[in-house]
Amino acid sequence: MNIRNFCIIAHIDHGKSTLADRMLMGTGAMDDRTRQDQALDSMDLERERGITIKASAVSVDHVYKGENYELNFIDTPGHVDFHYEVSRALAACEGAILVIDATQGVEAQTVANLYKAVDADLEIIPVVNKIDLPSAQPEERALQVEQVLGLSAEDCIFTSAKSGEGVKELLDAICERFPEPRGVVGEPLQALIFDAKYDDYRGVIIYFRVVNGTMRKGDRIRMMKIGRTFYVTELGKFRPEMTPTQEPFEAGDVGYMVAAIKTLEDVHIGDTITLDTRPAEKALPGYQEPAPMVYCDFYATGDTQFDDLRDAITKLHVNDASFTFDPTSSEALGSGFRCGFLGMLHMDIIQERLEREGDVSLVQTAPTVTYEIAMRSGEVIHITNPADLPDPSLINQIREPMVKAEIILPTKSIGDIMKLCDQRRGVYKGQKFLSDDRQILDYELPLAEIIYDFFDKLKSITSGYGTMDYQVDEFNADQLVKMDILVNGAQVDALSVIVHRSKAEIRGRALLKKLKEEIDRHMFEIPLQAVIGGKVIARENIKAMRKNVTAKCYGGDVTRKRKLLEKQKKGKERMKRIGTVDIPQEAFMAVLDTG
Ligand code: GDP
Ligand code: MG
Repeated sequence: MNIRNFCIIAHIDHGKSTLADRMLMGTGAMDDRTRQDQALDSMDLERERGITIKASAVSVDHVYKGENYELNFIDTPGHVDFHYEVSRALAACEGAILVIDATQGVEAQTVANLYKAVDADLEIIPVVNKIDLPSAQPEERALQVEQVLGLSAEDCIFTSAKSGEGVKELLDAICERFPEPRGVVGEPLQALIFDAKYDDYRGVIIYFRVVNGTMRKGDRIRMMKIGRTFYVTELGKFRPEMTPTQEPFEAGDVGYMVAAIKTLEDVHIGDTITLDTRPAEKALPGYQEPAPMVYCDFYATGDTQFDDLRDAITKLHVNDASFTFDPTSSEALGSGFRCGFLGMLHMDIIQERLEREGDVSLVQTAPTVTYEIAMRSGEVIHITNPADLPDPSLINQIREPMVKAEIILPTKSIGDIMKLCDQRRGVYKGQKFLSDDRQILDYELPLAEIIYDFFDKLKSITSGYGTMDYQVDEFNADQLVKMDILVNGAQVDALSVIVHRSKAEIRGRALLKKLKEEIDRHMFEIPLQAVIGGKVIARENIKAMRKNVTAKCYGGDVTRKRKLLEKQKKGKERMKRIGTVDIPQEAFMAVLDTG
């Protein structure tokens, strides 16, 4: 049997998932009747948001020059938060299809993903997609592929994932150009776990690739890193539904396995599976662990109790082990969880899944990054919550994570983007030409300055034509201070932020203004203060309420009145009472709007 293992990589929205669907149809694995758009994006949220979160692996058959080929392809997410998923997928392949939108051309994640594929030693087929669109410029894009990416323009395949044009040619090229799987069947088993997901009925489903040796149903396998053993109860392929097979899996085979594993904690992505009876001497090189980049707290609110929240988080974690959670407590908000995420999109998704699947209502605090604190004693600690910052007199340095960012943008926006990077304490590193009207800007920036709204700003300044990729680099010391917020004289630990000294006054004033908008008037006046090291740097007042809640509405505008009451009712569900003041969810996120 001929096998080809490959993945599809691209900048977001360039058509990976649609092309994957087309290839399923092209090979008969799916027809127009069973076709469902973006078949591989199976999670509800993925469909709704139109993004790919988890990489999926699918096996299809294709006949090329009279011979049968099994093509195993892995669809990957394009968003920067999920880069580590791409690296996993690459390790299980010999080839990569690099999709480029014929109307957009090369963008930030095109370059970032290409580097990864080249690093992983993969053969690459460049594909210029969406050639059906009137504004498509296939030849220009092929030229760009050659000039910017260093791949040959002649190697480009032109497709429309929408109409199916060029897809057969692409399938042929995959058989022709991608190498057959490396690996030796007679060696002791070494299989790479590249993904795992939790299924309510069968437990953990492991996505893996056999690199060397053979695996059969009934084998007693051993996870080399974790050391635990399991019996394989089912082996199979995704076609695209899970389809069990009785055949042994040999070097090169990609598929799934079920082995009565109850939680994702028992499975380590990147681990090597071997046979308990004839173990391999060495594990395969694993992956870099995905590290959480942003942290926030979740607290129960409304009818939700702490225990409900704990159950919901624990359950979701069985399903997505890439976020972290630890119990925490806040003076203001009580008991909750400090959670770590791969990025802001990941945070939003987890929050939404908790509320949707876990049926809890929660209050979330503003996200922050990890800070490295060098103490005067010589000790170095890491904190993920500004409230945990030790007494400043004991601190030698506060260091923050930096990123290396690559921004691809139209030449005419360069001045404005450089100004933006400047405001965000960026350090210019260089710039390169991409084409006549596009350039690549290299910057080093503090992660804390880009996680909230940098991307939105980039998009609006460049009218949507700017893209960015970044990689977290090292920690860097700067003039960072903790700013505390006092509401009605009481410090609210969940509102503390770490800010740059030079921006503290501006951020403080902006934050209080925002809080003033978000917190409703009470029967008494509420002073708001921003404080650094005991010194008040900004203040505001929320005036006492005069008569009733509808007093704010002028005239007899009934709908406006009703709207306000509804808003208040809704807000109350996500409200926390601190002392005698009710603080709504929005207030905890206020800091995000003050960058
Ligand atoms: P991904 O983020 O790379 O997975 O991109 P998707 O496959 O989700 O596609 C993004 C958008 O582009 C969707 O609205 C698709 O319908 C559309 N699209 C993808 N391929 C084509 C194509 O060949 N032609 C046209 N006209 N639209 C396409
Ligand atoms: Mg997709």
